[in-house]
Amino acid sequence: MAGYLDTPIEYLKGVGPQRAEALKNELDIHTIGDLLSHYPARHEDRSRIYTVAELQGADINVQLYGRIVPTGIVGVGAGRRFTARFQDTTGNLELVWFQGVNWIEKSLKPGEMYLVHGKLSQFNGKLNIAHPEIEHLPERPPVSGKGLVPVYPLSEGMRRRRLDNRFMVQCVNMALALPGYEIPENLPAALVQQQQLLARGEAVRWLHKPENITQLETARQRLKFEELFFLQVRHLQLKGNRQRTHKGLIFDKVGALFNTFYKEHLPFSLTEAQKRVLKEIRQDMKGEKQMNRLLQGDVGSGKTIVALLTMLLAADNGYQSCLMAPTEILASQHFYSLSELLQEMHIKPVLLTGGTRKKAREEILEQLKQGEIPMLIGTHALLEADVEFQNLGLVVIDEQHRFGVAQRAKLWHKGNHYPHVLVMTATPIPRTLAMTVYGDLDVSVIDQMPAGRKPIVTVHRHESNRPLIMDFLKKEIAAGRQIYYVFPLIEDSEKLDLKSLMGGYDMVADYLSPPDYTYSMVHGRMKPEEKDEEMRKFKLHRTDIMVATTVIEVGVNVPNATVMVIENAERFGLAQLHQLRGRVGRGGTQSYCILVTGSKLSENARKRLKTMVRTTDGFEISKVDLELRGPGDMDGTRQSGILELKLADIQKDENLLVLSRELAQQLLDRDPLLMLPENMPVRNELNKIPHRTVWSKIS
Ligand code: ADP
Ligand code: MG
Repeated sequence: MAGYLDTPIEYLKGVGPQRAEALKNELDIHTIGDLLSHYPARHEDRSRIYTVAELQGADINVQLYGRIVPTGIVGVGAGRRFTARFQDTTGNLELVWFQGVNWIEKSLKPGEMYLVHGKLSQFNGKLNIAHPEIEHLPERPPVSGKGLVPVYPLSEGMRRRRLDNRFMVQCVNMALALPGYEIPENLPAALVQQQQLLARGEAVRWLHKPENITQLETARQRLKFEELFFLQVRHLQLKGNRQRTHKGLIFDKVGALFNTFYKEHLPFSLTEAQKRVLKEIRQDMKGEKQMNRLLQGDVGSGKTIVALLTMLLAADNGYQSCLMAPTEILASQHFYSLSELLQEMHIKPVLLTGGTRKKAREEILEQLKQGEIPMLIGTHALLEADVEFQNLGLVVIDEQHRFGVAQRAKLWHKGNHYPHVLVMTATPIPRTLAMTVYGDLDVSVIDQMPAGRKPIVTVHRHESNRPLIMDFLKKEIAAGRQIYYVFPLIEDSEKLDLKSLMGGYDMVADYLSPPDYTYSMVHGRMKPEEKDEEMRKFKLHRTDIMVATTVIEVGVNVPNATVMVIENAERFGLAQLHQLRGRVGRGGTQSYCILVTGSKLSENARKRLKTMVRTTDGFEISKVDLELRGPGDMDGTRQSGILELKLADIQKDENLLVLSRELAQQLLDRDPLLMLPENMPVRNELNKIPHRTVWSKIS
């Protein structure tokens, strides 16, 4: 078996030592197997003319012949585009141009016959071609047959050496024609049969040399499934291994602390979602399982109280817990709100941050080691080596995405046993992404807001409306409310950041002048103590307006603040806008978010702002975000292997992802260690995947 795929690349005719070097260095192709798993990025077909009715999948270049009817110019600024309907005897699709709009409009002969060539894509479930090449041809052109031609990803270095796509195609053709050609199956035979999958050898051949689109699609489906399946098997296996090898601490007591707090000091009744999540957490911790749970809940959904109750459970069972937040502001915010909630109880949290003075710090560290501090709240400062617990039983991490992987790994090693871990995130992660990135974690979702919340009213306003905006702010302040006024980081420099913030302050103060109106200000250049002080003043309502950069983005909780104004809102990403908006609407009062921009906006920015105005649903927003940015940019994806997916797209292939996860789970249920002979191919394949960071150990 080890023969064919392991054959060195030099073995191919025409690939001498030099070209082999290039393939190795540039594309990491050493063997025939490597070559065949260097999949084409797309396929081009200029050899035949398709009909619209034949087109199924997107991402392929096609040639069509038919009539073009302009539908006009739409949009303004960067979003301005020219659209036309292409039509043949079988159907129609949309053509769109973003550049050269005027020229296209002028030169196109409406209703006449054209040969159209371009890359098919899908938008809102409909096929279209952006920037097609078009040629005015009254007669249908003759065609000659070369079939679908694969187009391979190449590097600059390859191109410099004149090793082009033709060279790659030749190599692949030779490889596929080698005597002894055989690509072994890597899925269990039963699975292939049950799911009616194309055999692997055929799939690889068809992907490189399809005879038609149907073959290409079938091959893609099979190989996409395979990618997702192995990723899921890996995640689930890690999860299973962890559960077998690390027995969790058993927190089976619901004791006095939890009960007293729950019955006597809980300031509101929990939402059903909070109760459900708490049950899930309880279930994890009371058995032998070591909890590794991701708690997702939109901004303002009430994650903090769940964290507190979980920490009380740890204390009831005689263990210390810690809560780690990404910023000083957020850590002290947690400290104040937990202290307030626990006012009447005889358990007190302690705060440890980078700003804690040396003497106080030493004292805290000593008490921590002696087990005298049941609840520690802090920032990265908790990760330092000299922070030692006596018996750390629970780690809660807030706003998970801000922590690096290595940092979390450190926290993990703070005890001689593995503590339970609860990771809270307000950045809603679409289900598909969660399944792939956090495939080996359990996920809980708070999908319900506390009762009585009114949806935040969001509007997009032009800068020239500032006087009206300011009048509105005056009214809100007169009614006893407070305002956030946020400016973006203009440059990636704190100095400029400060300068622009000062400018921003001057601008606002021109309308709302001190001392009639009072201000707090928070920016990146401040010392932690200063930030805290400014935040506290605002929280205690000693000031009306908080002027800030995005440092207030996460977690700050001032229920009396009802308006969030965001200047240059086009500079913010969707996740950030959503986070910022989540700072208001935290009480029962109607709240507002005002997005202020100039009129020059990119298509993308326009879409972000529209989305914000349209919905307050974090999941919906993160879906659009994923669409606009692609998964590569989402936090946490880099470590997950998700970027190594060559064919599958976690959004478009959601169904396949769900299926692959189910089947992976079934496989492992029957054969957790993959010891059965029929599962040998799976084991072999997994051994080939490079060992990556292990999520289960770091979160
Ligand atoms: P987040 O999930 O964004 O961290 P918080 O935990 O800060 O949200 O909660 C937001 C606000 O909602 C806080 O003021 C909190 O006290 C309040 N809250 C949380 N749960 C409830 C509830 N069940 N009923 C009413 N108010 C709640
Ligand atoms: Mg929070």
